[in-house]
Amino acid sequence: MKTIGLIGGMSWESTSLYYSAINQGVKNSLGGLHSAKICLYSVDFHEIEKLQHQGSWRQTAHILAKAAQAVEAGGADVFLICTNTMHKVAEEIQVAVNIPMIHIADATARVLLANGMTKVGLLGTAFTMQEDFYKGRLSQEFGLEVVVPNAEQQVMVHEVIYQELCLGEINLDSKQKYVDVIQDLYNQGAQAVILGCTEITLLVQQKDTPVPLYDTTAIHAQSAVAAALG
Ligand code: GLU
Repeated sequence: MKTIGLIGGMSWESTSLYYSAINQGVKNSLGGLHSAKICLYSVDFHEIEKLQHQGSWRQTAHILAKAAQAVEAGGADVFLICTNTMHKVAEEIQVAVNIPMIHIADATARVLLANGMTKVGLLGTAFTMQEDFYKGRLSQEFGLEVVVPNAEQQVMVHEVIYQELCLGEINLDSKQKYVDVIQDLYNQGAQAVILGCTEITLLVQQKDTPVPLYDTTAIHAQSAVAAALG
């Protein structure tokens, strides 16, 4: 079994989901007392969030590249950045190490394409919903047509992530607002909606909506299990 490197803490609320899902995946495959070999480097999200909102992405890349080097030194054979948003600096992090990264958008796009999806909705931080590193990657590299919420909805989705979900707060009003946005994306022709922020699954699950949801946390964790065992 290979060792999985996790760069986490963004936020730790979702990193704990990765930790459970990866261990559960290994247990499901190998049974008994088997568990995943994981090397986790967890950052202080307060520092990262400040830098993000100041636009100091180069500094975030520097911090996360050091984290990637630490998991490599700790024995990781492959690594994951446990957040969609920080894939904005994925290339800078990848070049700092010799082990491969599993890109969260690529892992998600492959599952969508395998299921025959061509037009998808995308929820995430404003960075993820608006910028080419994620939205553009899905369309340019995988040919997916991507629909995002309108400007007002994007503000709500972004604020709920940073002011509630990353703090572990689950608010039923916010859940209803998200479910309404998901329905809106479906009404615009999206065949499915990507939960493109690793905390959204804490708020909205498949039982809350008939629209097919693609949870990036679960998909990313599962692709790590496949890489470790494959
Ligand atoms: N975990 C979130 C994501 O998947 C947001 C937190 C962050 O800014 O990294 O995008």
